[in-house]
Amino acid sequence: MELRCVHCGFGVKTLFVQYSPGNIRLMKCENCKVVADEYIECEIMILLIDLILLKRKAYRHLLYNMLNREMFDTKGILWKACFLFLILDACRTLVFNRSQEDRCLSSSSFSSAWVCGKMLMNVCLGNLTFFYILVVATRLSLRSSSKETGYIDILLAILVSSYFKIFLIAMMVWEFPSSVIFIIDGFVLSSNAVSLKVMTEMTTIQCLGVCFSAHAMKFLASQILECWTVAGEVRSLYETKCCIVTELQLTREGR
Ligand SMILES: [Zn+2]
Repeated sequence: MELRCVHCGFGVKTLFVQYSPGNIRLMKCENCKVVADEYIECEIMILLIDLILLKRKAYRHLLYNMLNREMFDTKGILWKACFLFLILDACRTLVFNRSQEDRCLSSSSFSSAWVCGKMLMNVCLGNLTFFYILVVATRLSLRSSSKETGYIDILLAILVSSYFKIFLIAMMVWEFPSSVIFIIDGFVLSSNAVSLKVMTEMTTIQCLGVCFSAHAMKFLASQILECWTVAGEVRSLYETKCCIVTELQLTREGR
């Protein structure tokens, strides 16, 4: 990946020239004739605000100029981002399940190991489905164009642009209405679509369609898993009940 102008996405050789420590000159883009990346001189807070406002130039700076794979090895960042993404997704499942249990006023009679195993399966299967659909749908959308994007670039763009999930940690500590989870999901979907657009240069509708399909399939996979585990719980309860009835009958016959 080469360095890019944050305004038009045109490739640039260098973003700035350093004359002495603290004395730099920002380079202009050959295509649009403006400073290629002004975020180099901005505070990180300005970048964060522009990311929250879903400005494409902020995403270009983050994905092409900050996390450039040719300048340093992003493999470590990718692994850490994957780990954090899965933890935050597990937080989402926990918060969502807690709100569902509060609504139904029912507590599971199963052990916490079973609940943890179920949650892990949910997170792993859901995210495998999510990334598979995302990569396949992106490749299919790009089939007609000459643009090629590697799956690692897509993965990095999606992981980095899911930073809104960090607010789920606040939901673990403080009480929030369950609707806040869906608001966070909406922000994550929009942010994913913008980063995918910046990375692949597909149309906004295509990016929204790809991200929405991937999120929908992830939801569907977790619902299928939920139905399967509930069926398992019901079968287990039924077998326990049958055992108790048989034991009671044997006790009566013994008398
Ligand atoms: Zn430009």
